[in-house]
Amino acid sequence: MKTAYDTLYLFIDGEWIGTEDRNTALVINPATATELGHVPLATAADLDRALTVAQHSFDVWRNTVPEQRTRVLKRAADLILQRAAHIATQMTLEEGKPLAEATDEVTRAAEYFEWFAESARRIDGRVVPANRPGVLQLVKRQAIGPVAAFTPWNFPAITPSRKLAAALAAGCSVILKPGEESPSTALALARALDDAGLPKGVLQVVFGVPDQVSSQLIASPVIRKVTFTGSVPIGRLLSARAAEGVKPITLELGGHGPVLVFNDADVEKAAVEGVANRFRGTGQVCISSTRFLVQRDVYMTFVDTFVAATRALKVGNGLNPDTQVGPLANPRQLAKMEELVADAVAKGARVLTGGKRLPGDGYFFAPTVLADVPMTARVMHEEPFGPIAILMPFDTLADGLQEANRLPYALSAYAFTTNARTAIDVGDGLEAGMIGINQYRIVATELPFGGMKESGHGSEGGIEGIEHYLTHKFISQI
Ligand code: NAD
Repeated sequence: MKTAYDTLYLFIDGEWIGTEDRNTALVINPATATELGHVPLATAADLDRALTVAQHSFDVWRNTVPEQRTRVLKRAADLILQRAAHIATQMTLEEGKPLAEATDEVTRAAEYFEWFAESARRIDGRVVPANRPGVLQLVKRQAIGPVAAFTPWNFPAITPSRKLAAALAAGCSVILKPGEESPSTALALARALDDAGLPKGVLQVVFGVPDQVSSQLIASPVIRKVTFTGSVPIGRLLSARAAEGVKPITLELGGHGPVLVFNDADVEKAAVEGVANRFRGTGQVCISSTRFLVQRDVYMTFVDTFVAATRALKVGNGLNPDTQVGPLANPRQLAKMEELVADAVAKGARVLTGGKRLPGDGYFFAPTVLADVPMTARVMHEEPFGPIAILMPFDTLADGLQEANRLPYALSAYAFTTNARTAIDVGDGLEAGMIGINQYRIVATELPFGGMKESGHGSEGGIEGIEHYLTHKFISQI
Protein backbone atom coordinates (compact mmCIF):
# COMPACT_ATOMS: atom_id res chain seq x y z
CA MET A 1 0.00 0.00 0.00
CA LYS A 2 1.30 3.46 -0.90
CA THR A 3 1.93 5.61 2.18
CA ALA A 4 0.31 9.05 1.89
CA TYR A 5 2.49 12.12 2.21
CA ASP A 6 1.23 15.07 4.24
CA THR A 7 0.09 18.28 2.53
CA LEU A 8 2.65 21.05 2.93
CA TYR A 9 2.07 24.57 4.20
CA LEU A 10 3.66 27.74 5.40
CA PHE A 11 2.75 28.43 9.04
CA ILE A 12 2.47 32.18 9.55
CA ASP A 13 0.60 34.00 12.31
CA GLY A 14 -1.06 30.72 13.34
CA GLU A 15 -2.42 30.21 9.82
CA TRP A 16 -1.63 27.17 7.67
CA ILE A 17 -1.06 28.60 4.20
CA GLY A 18 -1.12 26.27 1.19
CA THR A 19 0.36 26.50 -2.28
CA GLU A 20 -2.33 28.83 -3.72
CA ASP A 21 -0.87 31.85 -5.57
CA ARG A 22 2.67 30.97 -4.61
CA ASN A 23 5.66 29.42 -6.31
CA THR A 24 6.34 25.90 -5.16
CA ALA A 25 9.24 23.45 -4.96
CA LEU A 26 8.93 19.74 -5.65
CA VAL A 27 9.53 17.29 -2.84
CA ILE A 28 10.97 14.01 -4.10
CA ASN A 29 11.11 10.57 -2.48
CA PRO A 30 14.84 9.79 -2.78
CA ALA A 31 14.24 6.02 -2.62
CA THR A 32 12.15 6.04 -5.79
CA ALA A 33 12.94 9.42 -7.38
CA THR A 34 9.20 10.06 -7.59
CA GLU A 35 7.22 13.14 -6.65
CA LEU A 36 5.78 13.35 -3.12
CA GLY A 37 4.30 16.81 -3.09
CA HIS A 38 4.83 20.55 -3.49
CA VAL A 39 6.04 22.90 -0.81
CA PRO A 40 4.83 26.52 -0.99
CA LEU A 41 7.59 29.14 -1.16
CA ALA A 42 7.11 32.28 0.91
CA THR A 43 6.90 35.60 -0.91
CA ALA A 44 8.63 38.74 0.35
CA ALA A 45 5.23 39.87 1.66
CA ASP A 46 4.82 36.57 3.56
CA LEU A 47 8.19 37.12 5.22
CA ASP A 48 7.35 40.72 6.11
CA ARG A 49 4.15 39.50 7.72
CA ALA A 50 6.02 36.80 9.63
CA LEU A 51 8.50 39.41 10.90
CA THR A 52 5.76 41.74 12.14
CA VAL A 53 4.05 38.84 13.89
CA ALA A 54 7.36 37.62 15.39
CA GLN A 55 7.80 41.02 17.08
CA HIS A 56 4.27 41.07 18.54
CA SER A 57 4.34 37.45 19.62
CA PHE A 58 7.73 37.96 21.30
CA ASP A 59 6.18 40.67 23.45
CA VAL A 60 3.47 38.20 24.49
CA TRP A 61 5.59 35.08 24.97
CA ARG A 62 8.47 36.67 26.89
CA ASN A 63 5.95 37.87 29.46
CA THR A 64 4.31 34.50 30.05
CA VAL A 65 5.24 32.91 33.36
CA PRO A 66 7.92 30.23 32.99
CA GLU A 67 5.54 27.54 34.17
CA GLN A 68 3.28 28.26 31.21
CA ARG A 69 6.19 27.83 28.79
CA THR A 70 7.13 24.59 30.57
CA ARG A 71 3.61 23.22 30.22
CA VAL A 72 3.38 24.00 26.50
CA LEU A 73 6.76 22.43 25.74
CA LYS A 74 5.96 19.30 27.77
CA ARG A 75 2.60 18.90 26.07
CA ALA A 76 4.33 19.29 22.69
CA ALA A 77 6.85 16.59 23.65
CA ASP A 78 3.98 14.24 24.53
CA LEU A 79 2.20 14.95 21.26
CA ILE A 80 5.38 14.38 19.23
CA LEU A 81 5.83 11.01 20.95
CA GLN A 82 2.18 10.05 20.38
CA ARG A 83 2.59 10.92 16.70
CA ALA A 84 6.09 9.44 16.32
CA ALA A 85 5.09 6.61 13.97
CA HIS A 86 3.42 9.02 11.55
CA ILE A 87 6.17 11.66 11.72
CA ALA A 88 8.89 9.04 11.23
CA THR A 89 7.15 7.61 8.17
CA GLN A 90 6.90 11.07 6.64
CA MET A 91 10.60 11.58 7.35
CA THR A 92 11.59 8.31 5.68
CA LEU A 93 9.50 9.22 2.64
CA GLU A 94 11.07 12.64 2.19
CA GLU A 95 14.63 12.11 3.47
CA GLY A 96 15.17 8.40 2.88
CA LYS A 97 16.61 7.20 6.20
CA PRO A 98 15.46 3.80 7.50
CA LEU A 99 12.25 3.93 9.50
CA ALA A 100 13.94 2.72 12.70
CA GLU A 101 16.45 5.61 12.49
CA ALA A 102 13.65 8.08 11.75
CA THR A 103 11.65 6.82 14.75
CA ASP A 104 14.70 7.12 17.00
CA GLU A 105 15.24 10.67 15.75
CA VAL A 106 11.65 11.70 16.50
CA THR A 107 11.92 10.24 20.01
CA ARG A 108 15.14 12.14 20.65
CA ALA A 109 13.60 15.31 19.22
CA ALA A 110 10.79 15.02 21.79
CA GLU A 111 13.44 14.69 24.53
CA TYR A 112 14.78 18.17 23.67
CA PHE A 113 11.33 19.64 24.31
CA GLU A 114 11.16 17.82 27.65
CA TRP A 115 14.66 18.93 28.63
CA PHE A 116 14.22 22.60 27.74
CA ALA A 117 10.72 22.64 29.24
CA GLU A 118 12.50 22.32 32.58
CA SER A 119 15.12 24.93 31.63
CA ALA A 120 12.35 27.52 31.28
CA ARG A 121 11.91 27.44 35.07
CA ARG A 122 15.63 27.74 35.79
CA ILE A 123 16.43 31.05 34.11
CA ASP A 124 17.60 32.73 37.26
CA GLY A 125 19.83 35.74 37.91
CA ARG A 126 22.26 37.02 40.53
CA VAL A 127 22.47 39.62 43.25
CA VAL A 128 26.03 40.93 43.27
CA PRO A 129 27.36 42.61 46.47
CA ALA A 130 28.14 46.29 45.76
CA ASN A 131 31.21 48.30 46.73
CA ARG A 132 29.03 51.14 47.90
CA PRO A 133 26.55 51.02 50.77
CA GLY A 134 22.82 50.95 49.96
CA VAL A 135 23.27 49.82 46.35
CA LEU A 136 21.37 46.83 44.99
CA GLN A 137 23.03 45.17 41.98
CA LEU A 138 20.97 42.68 39.99
CA VAL A 139 22.03 40.61 37.01
CA LYS A 140 19.06 39.37 34.98
CA ARG A 141 18.93 36.93 32.10
CA GLN A 142 16.22 37.76 29.60
CA ALA A 143 15.01 36.39 26.27
CA ILE A 144 17.18 37.89 23.52
CA GLY A 145 14.36 38.56 21.02
CA PRO A 146 12.87 37.08 17.83
CA VAL A 147 15.05 34.35 16.33
CA ALA A 148 15.65 33.35 12.70
CA ALA A 149 16.52 29.64 12.57
CA PHE A 150 17.73 27.74 9.50
CA THR A 151 17.92 23.96 9.49
CA PRO A 152 19.00 21.42 6.84
CA TRP A 153 17.36 18.35 5.31
CA ASN A 154 19.41 15.57 6.91
CA PHE A 155 17.97 15.59 10.47
CA PRO A 156 14.59 17.23 9.89
CA ALA A 157 13.27 16.52 13.42
CA ILE A 158 16.20 16.79 15.78
CA THR A 159 17.93 19.85 14.33
CA PRO A 160 14.87 22.12 14.48
CA SER A 161 14.00 20.70 17.93
CA ARG A 162 17.36 21.64 19.48
CA LYS A 163 16.81 25.21 18.34
CA LEU A 164 13.06 25.56 18.90
CA ALA A 165 12.91 23.96 22.33
CA ALA A 166 15.68 26.17 23.74
CA ALA A 167 14.51 29.39 22.09
CA LEU A 168 10.87 28.89 23.13
CA ALA A 169 11.88 27.95 26.67
CA ALA A 170 13.85 31.20 26.91
CA GLY A 171 10.80 33.22 25.83
CA CYS A 172 11.85 33.99 22.26
CA SER A 173 9.60 33.91 19.20
CA VAL A 174 11.04 32.00 16.23
CA ILE A 175 10.80 32.06 12.45
CA LEU A 176 12.07 28.68 11.29
CA LYS A 177 13.16 27.90 7.75
CA PRO A 178 13.71 24.15 7.49
CA GLY A 179 15.25 22.47 4.44
CA GLU A 180 12.85 22.48 1.49
CA GLU A 181 13.79 18.88 0.64
CA SER A 182 12.31 17.37 3.85
CA PRO A 183 9.67 19.92 4.87
CA SER A 184 6.88 17.86 6.44
CA THR A 185 8.80 16.82 9.56
CA ALA A 186 9.28 20.39 10.78
CA LEU A 187 5.64 21.12 10.05
CA ALA A 188 4.68 18.15 12.25
CA LEU A 189 6.72 19.70 15.09
CA ALA A 190 4.96 23.02 14.54
CA ARG A 191 1.60 21.23 14.55
CA ALA A 192 2.44 19.61 17.90
CA LEU A 193 3.44 22.97 19.42
CA ASP A 194 0.30 24.60 18.03
CA ASP A 195 -1.90 21.82 19.44
CA ALA A 196 -0.03 22.07 22.75
CA GLY A 197 -1.21 25.66 23.13
CA LEU A 198 1.73 27.74 21.92
CA PRO A 199 0.26 31.21 21.35
CA LYS A 200 -0.38 32.16 17.73
CA GLY A 201 2.68 33.49 15.91
CA VAL A 202 5.30 32.54 18.51
CA LEU A 203 6.56 29.89 16.10
CA GLN A 204 6.27 30.44 12.36
CA VAL A 205 7.59 28.11 9.66
CA VAL A 206 8.52 29.35 6.21
CA PHE A 207 10.02 27.76 3.12
CA GLY A 208 11.41 29.61 0.15
CA VAL A 209 14.45 30.30 -1.95
CA PRO A 210 16.97 29.87 0.88
CA ASP A 211 19.17 32.81 -0.02
CA GLN A 212 16.23 35.20 -0.37
CA VAL A 213 14.67 34.08 2.90
CA SER A 214 17.88 34.35 4.90
CA SER A 215 18.82 37.75 3.48
CA GLN A 216 15.40 39.24 4.18
CA LEU A 217 15.05 37.77 7.67
CA ILE A 218 18.58 38.46 8.88
CA ALA A 219 18.51 42.05 7.57
CA SER A 220 15.31 42.82 9.46
CA PRO A 221 15.76 44.81 12.68
CA VAL A 222 13.11 42.53 14.23
CA ILE A 223 15.48 39.55 14.27
CA ARG A 224 17.85 39.65 17.25
CA LYS A 225 19.44 36.21 16.96
CA VAL A 226 20.36 33.88 14.09
CA THR A 227 21.02 30.15 14.27
CA PHE A 228 22.06 27.92 11.37
CA THR A 229 22.92 24.26 10.82
CA GLY A 230 24.38 23.32 7.45
CA SER A 231 27.53 23.61 5.39
CA VAL A 232 30.61 25.74 6.18
CA PRO A 233 30.26 28.03 3.11
CA ILE A 234 26.63 28.91 3.92
CA GLY A 235 27.52 29.30 7.60
CA ARG A 236 30.20 31.79 6.61
CA LEU A 237 27.75 33.70 4.40
CA LEU A 238 25.06 33.94 7.10
CA SER A 239 27.70 34.92 9.65
CA ALA A 240 28.67 37.91 7.48
CA ARG A 241 25.00 38.88 7.12
CA ALA A 242 24.45 38.64 10.86
CA ALA A 243 27.56 40.77 11.45
CA GLU A 244 26.03 43.58 9.35
CA GLY A 245 23.31 43.95 11.97
CA VAL A 246 25.65 43.06 14.87
CA LYS A 247 23.52 40.00 15.63
CA PRO A 248 24.82 36.94 17.42
CA ILE A 249 24.78 33.72 15.41
CA THR A 250 25.10 30.10 16.44
CA LEU A 251 26.66 27.88 13.78
CA GLU A 252 26.58 24.09 13.61
CA LEU A 253 28.51 23.30 10.45
CA GLY A 254 30.19 20.33 8.85
CA GLY A 255 32.77 17.85 10.09
CA HIS A 256 35.25 15.23 8.88
CA GLY A 257 35.38 13.13 12.05
CA PRO A 258 38.63 11.29 12.76
CA VAL A 259 38.74 8.02 14.69
CA LEU A 260 42.03 6.92 16.31
CA VAL A 261 42.21 3.16 16.88
CA PHE A 262 45.24 2.22 18.98
CA ASN A 263 47.07 -1.14 19.05
CA ASP A 264 45.63 -1.88 22.52
CA ALA A 265 41.99 -1.20 21.52
CA ASP A 266 39.07 -3.56 21.11
CA VAL A 267 39.60 -3.55 17.34
CA GLU A 268 36.52 -5.60 16.51
CA LYS A 269 34.25 -3.16 18.41
CA ALA A 270 35.94 -0.12 16.85
CA ALA A 271 35.45 -1.58 13.36
CA VAL A 272 31.95 -3.07 13.63
CA GLU A 273 30.45 -0.12 15.50
CA GLY A 274 32.45 2.18 13.22
CA VAL A 275 30.63 0.77 10.19
CA ALA A 276 27.25 1.30 11.86
CA ASN A 277 28.23 4.86 12.76
CA ARG A 278 29.76 5.76 9.38
CA PHE A 279 26.82 4.54 7.30
CA ARG A 280 24.01 5.70 9.59
CA GLY A 281 21.89 8.26 7.75
CA THR A 282 23.69 7.09 4.57
CA GLY A 283 26.70 8.98 5.90
CA GLN A 284 24.86 12.32 5.75
CA VAL A 285 25.59 13.05 9.40
CA CYS A 286 27.77 15.98 10.45
CA ILE A 287 29.25 14.14 13.47
CA SER A 288 29.90 10.94 11.54
CA SER A 289 33.26 9.15 11.81
CA THR A 290 34.76 9.53 8.34
CA ARG A 291 38.56 9.05 8.67
CA PHE A 292 39.55 5.83 10.44
CA LEU A 293 43.19 6.16 11.55
CA VAL A 294 44.40 2.79 12.79
CA GLN A 295 47.71 2.06 14.51
CA ARG A 296 50.00 -0.01 12.29
CA ASP A 297 49.99 -3.37 14.21
CA VAL A 298 46.20 -3.75 14.08
CA TYR A 299 45.58 -2.00 10.76
CA MET A 300 45.05 -5.14 8.64
CA THR A 301 42.73 -6.75 11.22
CA PHE A 302 40.71 -3.53 11.34
CA VAL A 303 40.53 -3.32 7.53
CA ASP A 304 39.30 -6.91 7.16
CA THR A 305 36.62 -6.54 9.85
CA PHE A 306 35.50 -3.13 8.60
CA VAL A 307 35.20 -4.23 4.96
CA ALA A 308 33.32 -7.44 5.86
CA ALA A 309 30.83 -5.50 8.03
CA THR A 310 30.36 -2.91 5.27
CA ARG A 311 29.65 -5.59 2.65
CA ALA A 312 27.01 -7.12 4.95
CA LEU A 313 24.96 -3.90 5.11
CA LYS A 314 21.51 -4.07 3.55
CA VAL A 315 20.84 -1.07 1.31
CA GLY A 316 17.30 -0.26 0.23
CA ASN A 317 14.12 1.71 0.68
CA GLY A 318 13.95 2.93 4.28
CA LEU A 319 10.37 1.73 4.58
CA ASN A 320 11.54 -1.91 4.31
CA PRO A 321 12.11 -3.17 7.87
CA ASP A 322 15.40 -4.92 7.04
CA THR A 323 17.01 -1.87 5.39
CA GLN A 324 20.11 -0.59 7.21
CA VAL A 325 21.22 2.07 4.70
CA GLY A 326 18.77 4.17 2.69
CA PRO A 327 19.33 6.35 -0.39
CA LEU A 328 21.15 9.65 -0.43
CA ALA A 329 18.72 12.48 0.18
CA ASN A 330 19.08 14.18 -3.19
CA PRO A 331 20.81 13.88 -6.60
CA ARG A 332 23.44 16.48 -5.57
CA GLN A 333 24.74 14.14 -2.91
CA LEU A 334 24.81 11.23 -5.37
CA ALA A 335 26.80 13.22 -7.92
CA LYS A 336 29.18 14.38 -5.15
CA MET A 337 29.90 10.77 -4.09
CA GLU A 338 30.66 9.79 -7.68
CA GLU A 339 33.00 12.76 -8.05
CA LEU A 340 34.83 12.15 -4.77
CA VAL A 341 35.44 8.47 -5.51
CA ALA A 342 36.52 9.10 -9.12
CA ASP A 343 38.92 11.81 -7.98
CA ALA A 344 40.43 9.62 -5.24
CA VAL A 345 40.83 6.62 -7.57
CA ALA A 346 42.41 8.78 -10.28
CA LYS A 347 44.97 9.89 -7.70
CA GLY A 348 45.80 6.33 -6.59
CA ALA A 349 43.25 5.32 -3.91
CA ARG A 350 42.01 1.72 -3.73
CA VAL A 351 38.28 0.95 -3.46
CA LEU A 352 37.98 -1.97 -1.00
CA THR A 353 34.22 -2.21 -1.45
CA GLY A 354 31.43 -0.18 -3.06
CA GLY A 355 32.52 2.88 -5.00
CA LYS A 356 29.57 3.17 -7.31
CA ARG A 357 25.94 4.12 -7.72
CA LEU A 358 23.51 1.22 -7.33
CA PRO A 359 21.05 0.34 -10.11
CA GLY A 360 17.45 1.56 -9.88
CA ASP A 361 15.64 4.88 -9.85
CA GLY A 362 16.47 6.02 -6.31
CA TYR A 363 19.60 7.87 -5.25
CA PHE A 364 21.46 4.81 -3.96
CA PHE A 365 25.24 4.68 -3.60
CA ALA A 366 27.01 1.55 -2.36
CA PRO A 367 28.62 1.83 1.10
CA THR A 368 32.21 2.52 0.13
CA VAL A 369 35.56 1.92 1.80
CA LEU A 370 38.70 3.60 0.46
CA ALA A 371 42.32 2.85 1.41
CA ASP A 372 45.69 4.31 0.36
CA VAL A 373 44.02 7.65 -0.35
CA PRO A 374 46.68 10.27 -1.19
CA MET A 375 46.62 13.68 0.48
CA THR A 376 45.96 15.26 -2.92
CA ALA A 377 42.51 13.62 -3.11
CA ARG A 378 39.55 15.93 -2.48
CA VAL A 379 37.97 13.47 -0.04
CA MET A 380 40.91 13.98 2.34
CA HIS A 381 39.89 17.64 2.68
CA GLU A 382 36.17 17.89 1.91
CA GLU A 383 33.45 16.53 4.17
CA PRO A 384 32.29 13.29 2.49
CA PHE A 385 28.64 13.81 3.33
CA GLY A 386 27.66 10.34 2.16
CA PRO A 387 28.57 6.65 2.48
CA ILE A 388 32.36 6.83 2.07
CA ALA A 389 34.84 5.67 4.75
CA ILE A 390 38.57 6.34 4.56
CA LEU A 391 40.95 3.88 6.24
CA MET A 392 44.60 4.77 6.90
CA PRO A 393 47.39 3.57 9.21
CA PHE A 394 49.39 5.67 11.68
CA ASP A 395 52.43 4.96 13.87
CA THR A 396 52.67 7.11 17.00
CA LEU A 397 50.15 9.01 19.14
CA ALA A 398 51.69 12.26 17.89
CA ASP A 399 51.28 11.20 14.23
CA GLY A 400 47.68 10.15 14.85
CA LEU A 401 46.79 13.43 16.56
CA GLN A 402 48.49 15.46 13.84
CA GLU A 403 46.41 13.81 11.10
CA ALA A 404 43.23 13.94 13.20
CA ASN A 405 43.66 17.70 13.74
CA ARG A 406 44.90 18.51 10.22
CA LEU A 407 41.63 19.92 8.84
CA PRO A 408 39.79 23.17 9.62
CA TYR A 409 36.83 21.01 10.72
CA ALA A 410 36.59 20.23 14.45
CA LEU A 411 33.15 18.89 15.21
CA SER A 412 33.40 15.28 16.44
CA ALA A 413 36.34 12.92 17.02
CA TYR A 414 36.64 9.40 18.42
CA ALA A 415 39.36 7.20 19.91
CA PHE A 416 39.59 3.54 20.89
CA THR A 417 42.16 2.50 23.47
CA THR A 418 42.31 0.50 26.71
CA ASN A 419 45.21 2.57 28.01
CA ALA A 420 44.05 5.26 30.46
CA ARG A 421 47.07 7.51 29.72
CA THR A 422 46.35 7.38 25.97
CA ALA A 423 42.65 8.11 26.62
CA ILE A 424 43.57 11.22 28.64
CA ASP A 425 46.08 12.38 26.01
CA VAL A 426 43.67 12.03 23.11
CA GLY A 427 40.87 13.65 25.12
CA ASP A 428 43.20 16.63 25.65
CA GLY A 429 44.81 16.62 22.22
CA LEU A 430 41.93 16.11 19.79
CA GLU A 431 40.56 19.34 18.37
CA ALA A 432 36.81 18.72 18.36
CA GLY A 433 33.75 19.95 20.18
CA MET A 434 32.55 16.41 20.87
CA ILE A 435 34.75 13.40 21.61
CA GLY A 436 33.80 9.73 22.06
CA ILE A 437 36.29 7.42 23.71
CA ASN A 438 35.62 3.72 23.14
CA GLN A 439 32.20 4.60 21.76
CA TYR A 440 30.58 6.36 18.84
CA ARG A 441 27.30 7.24 20.52
CA ILE A 442 28.13 10.71 21.85
CA VAL A 443 25.01 12.83 21.49
CA ALA A 444 22.66 13.21 24.45
CA THR A 445 20.03 15.79 25.33
CA GLU A 446 21.86 16.72 28.54
CA LEU A 447 25.19 17.36 26.74
CA PRO A 448 26.27 20.39 24.71
CA PHE A 449 26.34 19.71 20.95
CA GLY A 450 28.67 21.92 18.92
CA GLY A 451 32.00 22.33 17.19
CA MET A 452 35.25 24.27 17.15
CA LYS A 453 37.29 25.90 14.36
CA GLU A 454 35.32 26.06 11.08
CA SER A 455 32.77 23.55 12.34
CA GLY A 456 31.08 26.44 14.08
CA HIS A 457 30.55 27.95 17.48
CA GLY A 458 27.95 27.80 20.20
CA SER A 459 26.50 24.65 21.71
CA GLU A 460 22.97 23.34 21.50
CA GLY A 461 21.59 20.96 24.13
CA GLY A 462 22.64 20.59 27.75
CA ILE A 463 22.49 23.48 30.19
CA GLU A 464 24.51 25.46 27.63
CA GLY A 465 21.81 25.22 24.94
CA ILE A 466 19.53 27.94 26.28
CA GLU A 467 22.28 30.52 26.80
CA HIS A 468 22.32 31.76 23.17
CA TYR A 469 18.70 32.76 23.49
CA LEU A 470 19.26 34.86 26.61
CA THR A 471 20.91 38.20 27.12
CA HIS A 472 22.42 39.60 30.33
CA LYS A 473 21.25 42.85 31.76
CA PHE A 474 22.41 44.44 35.01
CA ILE A 475 20.39 46.84 37.11
CA SER A 476 22.21 48.89 39.70
CA GLN A 477 19.73 50.51 42.05
CA ILE A 478 20.16 52.88 44.97
P1 NAD B 1 23.84 23.76 1.49
O1 NAD B 1 24.82 24.39 2.37
O2 NAD B 1 23.53 24.41 0.17
O3 NAD B 1 22.45 23.60 2.26
C1 NAD B 1 22.38 23.16 3.59
C2 NAD B 1 21.12 23.74 4.18
O4 NAD B 1 21.26 25.14 4.21
C3 NAD B 1 19.89 23.46 3.30
O5 NAD B 1 18.82 23.10 4.12
C4 NAD B 1 19.62 24.75 2.57
O6 NAD B 1 18.24 24.97 2.37
C5 NAD B 1 20.19 25.78 3.51
N1 NAD B 1 20.73 26.92 2.78
C6 NAD B 1 21.44 26.91 1.63
N2 NAD B 1 21.74 28.17 1.27
C7 NAD B 1 21.19 28.98 2.21
C8 NAD B 1 21.14 30.38 2.37
N3 NAD B 1 21.75 31.23 1.52
N4 NAD B 1 20.46 30.88 3.44
C9 NAD B 1 19.86 30.05 4.32
N5 NAD B 1 19.89 28.72 4.21
C10 NAD B 1 20.54 28.19 3.16
O7 NAD B 1 24.24 22.30 1.28
P2 NAD B 1 23.64 21.09 0.46
O8 NAD B 1 23.89 21.19 -1.02
O9 NAD B 1 22.23 20.83 0.88
O10 NAD B 1 24.62 20.05 1.03
C11 NAD B 1 25.99 20.25 0.71
C12 NAD B 1 26.86 20.04 1.88
O11 NAD B 1 26.44 20.75 3.03
C13 NAD B 1 26.88 18.62 2.33
O12 NAD B 1 27.68 17.84 1.50
C14 NAD B 1 27.40 18.77 3.73
O13 NAD B 1 28.80 18.89 3.69
C15 NAD B 1 26.83 20.07 4.21
N6 NAD B 1 25.67 19.88 5.10
C16 NAD B 1 25.90 19.83 6.42
C17 NAD B 1 24.86 19.63 7.29
C18 NAD B 1 25.08 19.53 8.77
O14 NAD B 1 24.28 18.91 9.46
N7 NAD B 1 26.10 20.17 9.30
C19 NAD B 1 23.56 19.50 6.80
C20 NAD B 1 23.35 19.58 5.42
C21 NAD B 1 24.41 19.79 4.58
